[in-house]
Formats: sequence, C-alpha cells, structure tokens
Amino acid sequence: MLVIAFVFCGMSITAGYHRLWSHKTYEAHKALRYLFAIGGAFALQNSALHWSSDHRVHHKHVDNNDKDPYSAKRGFWYSHIGWMLREYQAQRYDDYRKCRDLQKDPVVMWQHKHYVLLALLTNFGIPIALGLLYGDLIGFVLVVGALRLVLSHHTTFFINSLAHIWGSQPYTSKNTARDNGILAFFTFGEGYHNFHHIFEHDYRNGIRWWQFDPTKWLIRGSASIGLASNLKRVSAYRIEKARLQQTMANAKDRIFKLPNAEQIQTALEQELQQLLAKLTEYDEVRSQLIDSAKSSVKEKYELALLRVKLEQLDISLKEQKKRWNAMVSNPRLAIA
Ligand SMILES: [Zn+2]
Ligand SMILES: [Zn+2]
Repeated sequence: MLVIAFVFCGMSITAGYHRLWSHKTYEAHKALRYLFAIGGAFALQNSALHWSSDHRVHHKHVDNNDKDPYSAKRGFWYSHIGWMLREYQAQRYDDYRKCRDLQKDPVVMWQHKHYVLLALLTNFGIPIALGLLYGDLIGFVLVVGALRLVLSHHTTFFINSLAHIWGSQPYTSKNTARDNGILAFFTFGEGYHNFHHIFEHDYRNGIRWWQFDPTKWLIRGSASIGLASNLKRVSAYRIEKARLQQTMANAKDRIFKLPNAEQIQTALEQELQQLLAKLTEYDEVRSQLIDSAKSSVKEKYELALLRVKLEQLDISLKEQKKRWNAMVSNPRLAIA
C-alpha cells in the first residue's frame, strides 16, 4: 500500500503537475486530469495552479537568486526545502498571471478551489480507511500517511536540489541542471533534468529507450488507450545539435591550457561546423524520405534513391562523429 500510494502521489506530480500542466507537453482526458488533481492533493504540494506557476518561474529565471523560487545557486538546503519554510516570495504568492491557460482548465480550478479539503480528505481519509479495513489504524496512518508523505516530498524536492548539483551536463552548461540516472530511478524519470531544462516541451525526460523514465511510459501508455494525445517531442536533430555544441563548450575548457590554443580552437570549430552541416543534410534527406513515403504519387525508384542517399549519409555522419569524439577528448588531434 505504501508503494501504491507513493507511486500515485509521485506520478500525479511528474505526469500531471509537471509535464501536463506546467509544460503542456501533451493533452490529457478529463478522467486522467481528475486523477492527477486528487493525487497531487494527496502529495501535499499545493494546488496544480500554484505549483505550475512557481515552476514556470523556475524555468524562466533558473539560477537567478532573486527570481527563481528555488534557485540552486542559493545552496542545497534552500533549493531542497528552505524556500518553503519562509515566505521568501510572499509578494507574488497569488500571482497566477503565468498560468492564464491553466485557469481555463476546469479540473485545475476545481482542485485549486477545494485544495485544502482534498488534501485533508486524501491524507487522512485514505490511511484511515485502509487502517479500518485491515484492522491496523496506527500502522496505516504512520506508513501510508506519514512515511509515504516524507518519501514523496523528498524525492520531488531532490529535483530542485540534487538534480541541479549532482550529475552530468550533456546538453547545456548554461544552467545548473544535471542528468542523473540514479536520481531518475527515485523520481519517476525526472532525474534527466539537464535535458529537461533545455527542451522543457518534450513529454520525455529520459529520451533513450533504456533511460528509466516511467512518467514517459505512463504518458505513452495513456495515449495508446486514448487518455492522452498530442504528445510533443523535440526532433532528434535538435537534440543531437545541442549535444554536439555542448561537447565543444566542454572542450574549450581544456583547450585554453594547451600551447597553440587558438589554432586548436579554430580547427575544432571548423570541424564542428562541418559536422553540423552533415547533420542538417541528414535531417533534410530523412524528412524528404518521410514525406515521399506518405505521398503515393512518388515513384518507387525515387524512394529507393532517397533511401540509399540516407544510408550513405548515415555512414559518413557516424565517421565524422567518431573523428569529432576523438578530437574533443584529445584536442591536440585537431591540428595533428
Ligand atoms: Zn530545475
Ligand atoms: Zn520543468
């Protein structure tokens, strides 16, 4: 029961509050929205409207100590829980201008209006009902009531604290957000936070099939039975481009210590431009192929031709990437 209640709370926050309402990465059926609204109240993390409002400010002003409500630059404690313990941003507590769209969602407004009642009913009602059913009132109140809430709170709070401190930055180092597979395991996939901060409108956080992101699976599963639609994803091209540009940014940190730093940097930049050009070409041919496959007018040989072209591009792209990876791990190679 603890696990079920923990998953219900956690996923209502990740799939509901976060990916549905804060970022609108997909659309959900009313039944699913009611479920998330109830689970969110059970998770005791304020109303979806309030949560999303804070969260949109966090994304817009990430790491800005004056504006980001849980800025990681103010340290672990502050970003984890300290920000809630005092009214640091009391002046904008009821300012929901960033969430005008959500104010049109009757489920969001229903939950916002009855939030306190829903929170009390779920947090006391569910453990008490289960306790009476199984004849162990105190046990259920302590485990499904208190322990579940502590676990649920801290795993969510880790996204604001640890996911901005611990992990890698494969897509951008312009903010503190990190990718961390271990955190993703405890947070229903939200640990891939570096990707999330650069591509917040993607319904996935872990984009590779093997990356642990149950929230993404829940959304995709809901879509397959008609409860979710319009799932948004960033193109593989944009993701790869960001990743390559970040490898360049990382390499720059190492180059400046080397002799011939300037020469190496120019050579690397040229190589990156060539690689990006190839990537663009690959992406264009791929879209052409998809479009052509859709239209029945195209001749079969034209399709075959495009397929061959794409295969060739794929081979040369892989080779160029291999060369690039070798160069960024050992920048001296760039002018060898
Ligand atoms: Zn963040
Ligand atoms: Zn977010």
